Amino acid sequence: MTPDSPQLVSLGIQETQLRPLLSLSDSELLAWLTAAGEQKFRLKQIRKWMIQRRVQSFDEMTDLSTSLRQKLTAEFRFSSFQQVGHQVASDRTEKLLLKLHDGELVECVLMRDTDRRTVCISTQVGCAMGCVFCASGLLGVKRDLTAAEIYEQVLVLHRMMEDDERITNVVVMGIGEPLANYNNLMSALDVLSSEDGLGLGARRITVSTVGLPTKIREFARSGKQFNLAISLHAPNDKLRTEIVPVNKSIGIKELLAAADDFFEVTGRRVSFEYVLLSGVNDQPQHAEELADLMRGRNVHVNLIPMNGVSELLMTAPGEPLTRRFCSILESRGIPATVRKRKGADIDAACGQLRLNRTES
Ligand code: SAH
Repeated sequence: MTPDSPQLVSLGIQETQLRPLLSLSDSELLAWLTAAGEQKFRLKQIRKWMIQRRVQSFDEMTDLSTSLRQKLTAEFRFSSFQQVGHQVASDRTEKLLLKLHDGELVECVLMRDTDRRTVCISTQVGCAMGCVFCASGLLGVKRDLTAAEIYEQVLVLHRMMEDDERITNVVVMGIGEPLANYNNLMSALDVLSSEDGLGLGARRITVSTVGLPTKIREFARSGKQFNLAISLHAPNDKLRTEIVPVNKSIGIKELLAAADDFFEVTGRRVSFEYVLLSGVNDQPQHAEELADLMRGRNVHVNLIPMNGVSELLMTAPGEPLTRRFCSILESRGIPATVRKRKGADIDAACGQLRLNRTES
């Protein structure tokens, strides 16, 4: 994100040709330090600057020697990303469009709500799930993001925040299916939650999935304390397969069995997300059917009025139908809330910025 430094320019090197520093594992960085004649303790210092502090270049890492800072600048890119888009909504929601080294694009969002600062991150370039109301999957999936590309989205937003602001929550609800990129996702979330990393409590991190049962069971047994949200969106298989096509090979029964397993193994309540699509899944009988499905389970239902996507015809129902849907669930003892809209005046639905840029 920084312009090429004078040092690089004098060497005839463009920063974008270099490897991003965070793409190196600890052992790779250690090997580099040793080969450069530097001491081992530099590893921790560099990681701390990269992950916890809000600097924008190696030059600002003031407890490193000038020569080490110069070597780092000559050999590595400070960031994996080039920022190619930045939108700020009237509610101070900020959305970034980031270009990766191979020219692909991803998005991340910072949402502000009283003391909460929630960051929403992407895990893949595009998505293979094909949900019919979602902008992210319209062009299919290009590739998985690396672990560094996943957690660095949080760092980029962290560096942009005011000095007195702290990230309080992370939601993995951006572009891609997180559990389809499981290993990289977990490595990334470990960096965000570890004390050496950003130090965010694991319970403040939520992974949203279309619902891949085998991966949900693996996640349950991983010992990790992150929260799980499942995108259900329909109360029966016929409708779910129409709007979430991957359901065809899974089925709601198997999905709920995996969700129950997650609760039994971890003791953590699962959230179910339900996008309200006008005339599709928003009728009172859908709410009744959903209440029947959820009955007896320790869950929370998060209703999300659809965010408009210009390429798609579907829309959100009006306020009265939304309220009615929510109160039917509540009156049947199912805890439910309607998700607050954030960033309504920018391309709010995730995947839209990338879609607009990729098409043009
Ligand atoms: N693949 C993951 C993450 C997707 S994004 C998943 O399926 O959960 C997070 C949530 O936003 C999902 O519930 C997704 O279905 C929902 N979503 C996608 N497009 C949307 C839109 N246009 N309006 C509202 N919610 C949307």
